[in-house]
Amino acid sequence: MPERDLKSAVAADQKHLIHSLHHPSGHTAPKIWVKGRGSIITDLEGKEYIDGLAGLWNVNIGHGRVELARAAASQMELLAYQSSYVGSSNLPAIELGERLAKLTYPSINKFFFASGGGEATESAVKTVRFYWKALGQPTKWKVISRELGYHGVTLAAMSATGIDTYWPMFEPRTPGFIHIPSPYPYYFNHGFKPGHGAQTPGIAAANLLEQAILKEGAENIAAFIAEPVQGAGGVIVPQDDYWGRIREICTQYEVLLIADEVITGFGRTGRWFALEHWNVQPDIMNFAKGVTSGYLPLGGIGVNDRIAEVINGVEVSRRYMHAFTYSGHPTVCAVALANLDYFERNDLVTQAAETGAYMQQQLKALERHPQVGDVRGLGMMAAVELSEDRATRKRFDPAKGYGEKLRLECAKRGLWSRIFKDSFYLSPPLTTTREEVARAVGILDESIQAVFK
Ligand code: PMP
Repeated sequence: MPERDLKSAVAADQKHLIHSLHHPSGHTAPKIWVKGRGSIITDLEGKEYIDGLAGLWNVNIGHGRVELARAAASQMELLAYQSSYVGSSNLPAIELGERLAKLTYPSINKFFFASGGGEATESAVKTVRFYWKALGQPTKWKVISRELGYHGVTLAAMSATGIDTYWPMFEPRTPGFIHIPSPYPYYFNHGFKPGHGAQTPGIAAANLLEQAILKEGAENIAAFIAEPVQGAGGVIVPQDDYWGRIREICTQYEVLLIADEVITGFGRTGRWFALEHWNVQPDIMNFAKGVTSGYLPLGGIGVNDRIAEVINGVEVSRRYMHAFTYSGHPTVCAVALANLDYFERNDLVTQAAETGAYMQQQLKALERHPQVGDVRGLGMMAAVELSEDRATRKRFDPAKGYGEKLRLECAKRGLWSRIFKDSFYLSPPLTTTREEVARAVGILDESIQAVFK
């Protein structure tokens, strides 16, 4: 890459690029990132930051692992790309399928590859439609998801996504997506009174799914899609009895359960996959991000044996006409294999559980600030939510922009991350050391004081 000074790089960027979530007001002084090593990223001015969000929750093994670069280079030298449309395949894709079958839930043994999380959602939604049509139940095509859920922003994925700010300028949405409230314990449990067959907030939150299915008619619902721990919508860890009840409802009403593990997969929560925390197995699993630690773009779905059987069992004229040029890309799959090698060589999931427990415990201390309403998370995934009144859980007036102020104070002190409303996220690479975690939490602590001084 040519050397370039900051001013000319920013000017050319502003002239030629449209960014994700684009608006020029958020791009007057963009960071131009040039280097990453472990949990530390460096900008064009040479300033270093802790990568508090592991890229976009994806750089699980940390930055700068040369073995992944070497895996890409050797596969590119041999065969960078060839189609893996039916009738063709390649060795890295085959091996990746085998390895994922061993690592993922026992229910999941067959995989379709895409290039990211949004494409994974599209693939899951199309697959559940296909499944019910193949079984002679074509009315079963609607999908239930949750408010504050994030599943990507391609058109069907955007329609499944339950963060409504993604919608207005791109509507109409794809029909057939229904949203139920998220189990958000900080708000949902507050003032909960047992009743209507639910003795706990977790069961009550899960029963909202049953109510939605009954309202629409189970014969019209193909699937329920949800993140085991909601990521982009607030790092929302459900109540402990939530997922078991969700699995029960899906089974009872023959609604396929799609676990969107795009963030929670590959060690992020201290387990390989997050529904393991609650002993639940999905029918379809979406993955992306951590499967390559972001070194190259990869996503996809894994399906249970019954769905696999149905895909294989239809007549030729009804085949699975779903495809991507880059499905099963040999170089991308080779990088995923090198990433999984790194995980196994370093026992990274155990490390994530241990460092994660330490991180959650360190963060809890921030609750001594009166403006910190909630500190929550699981493993290496956490959020600190500011609130005006902890007792009533009243939110700050969004116009005060405290979340953004906190983000800027943290950036000034060398901690880079993202916020959602007034929640600040901390989800660094799984390789982050305890010293780095302590430094990040220290920066957050000072920054909260600075915002509210
Ligand atoms: N699902 C979840 C749970 C995600 O967190 C994301 C991305 N943040 C996506 C899907 C979409 O992935 P992508 O941006 O790769 O399309």
